[in-house]
Amino acid sequence: MTSRILHRSITHSYPVAVGGEGIRIIDSNGKQYIDASGGAAVSCLGHGHPDITRAMHEQADKLAFAHTSFFTTEPAERLADELIAHAPKGISHVYYVSGGSEAIEAALKMARQYHVERGEPQRKHFIARRQSYHGNTVGALSVGGNAWRRQQFAPMLIEAHHIAPCFEYRDRRPDETPEAYGTRTADELEAKILELGKDSVIAFVAEPVVGATLGAVTAAPGYFKRIREICDKYGVLLILDEVMCGMGRTGTLHAVEQEGISPDIMTIAKGLGGGYQPIGAILLGQHIFDSFKNGSGFFQHGHTYLGHPMACAAALAVQEVIKRDKLLDNVQAMGAHLMDRLQDRFGNHRHVGDIRGRGLFQAIELVQDRASKATFDPAKKLNARIKQEAMALGLMCYPMGGTIDGKHGDHVLLAPPFICTKSDIDLIVEKLGEAVDISLKSVA
Ligand code: PMP
Repeated sequence: MTSRILHRSITHSYPVAVGGEGIRIIDSNGKQYIDASGGAAVSCLGHGHPDITRAMHEQADKLAFAHTSFFTTEPAERLADELIAHAPKGISHVYYVSGGSEAIEAALKMARQYHVERGEPQRKHFIARRQSYHGNTVGALSVGGNAWRRQQFAPMLIEAHHIAPCFEYRDRRPDETPEAYGTRTADELEAKILELGKDSVIAFVAEPVVGATLGAVTAAPGYFKRIREICDKYGVLLILDEVMCGMGRTGTLHAVEQEGISPDIMTIAKGLGGGYQPIGAILLGQHIFDSFKNGSGFFQHGHTYLGHPMACAAALAVQEVIKRDKLLDNVQAMGAHLMDRLQDRFGNHRHVGDIRGRGLFQAIELVQDRASKATFDPAKKLNARIKQEAMALGLMCYPMGGTIDGKHGDHVLLAPPFICTKSDIDLIVEKLGEAVDISLKSVA
């Protein structure tokens, strides 16, 4: 079939997805694929969930769209109430967008306007981390630290500064405790703030659990507490990007709950609507809201589809099902089972250097040699091969290769739907093992 779509890869031919049921997607040849990555950590309730499609139909029958410069709507208000009721301490309001990049883009502007409203217009710098991903629009790409994604667009990007990610497997010294490593890495933020000028930084942006670029990397103990202290000391806002790791994926509604701190601004998307509708949101603190309220009276931003009633109705239904069916308990239980199965299958594998993650957000990292942690030659495209072999076996997983300060690492991220069972997980790990071993034959 000749396609008129500019697909993600022009050279690849994609199966045509025609149906979805539970944790599976079905293509036009009737082949089934287990969705072990939720697409890209999106489909938290799997596919074809009747409660969500019913909520969408009901909203479509009532009102599909009303522009937010004229109206607010019931699903938008109800979803905001639900999100605030369960938000981290200090978060008081919601701003809607249509996805993750839009959420980051708006969060950056929100942070800048906060300082302007408070009489600190000299603040102009953003700090984020190397090898991070926060989206593909210009602002989001600028704070993102993925060298490969930034490369050709460098002249268009806004000024942003980067410190090291907190990545114990690669960077903790053998003689260092996890806590000491966490503090040392967090202290890079203070050094960078002082280098740029202590009253010149708008915000620090980071993912509590790093998704796509590093592969389910949790922070060392105490890292985020120290980051919070440094931000407070210099009046720098903390923007946490939970677009991928949030909304239950790591076993608590927000990943930051497990770090014992609160952000000033937080972005959520993928699991918010579970893929049933495109929706993202920013959760903002009372102080951010008050700065607008006591200042110009509005946030100078906005898109046509913000607060789309269909998207809000779908997201509200997704969040209600997660609560009703106690799915966060299942994320924790199945997460523990997934970790056990990954350890059984890959714990002694000569090419698996690390198995990591939290809840139903886990990854394996592939290395040539476990002792030296030497990576595979990027030209061998191991991650692409694993994806291809897994799809042939009817498994969707999320393999990625990245550049970590010039070094390349391949990992496979798993993010199965919250409704998965032990036998689903057993099958996922069995198929992943097969795909990895077949792929390694061509590179090892
Ligand atoms: N932030 C993070 C952490 C992400 O993982 C992503 C998407 N993978 C984005 C932002 C961008 O989201 P979107 O693709 O919906 O624009």
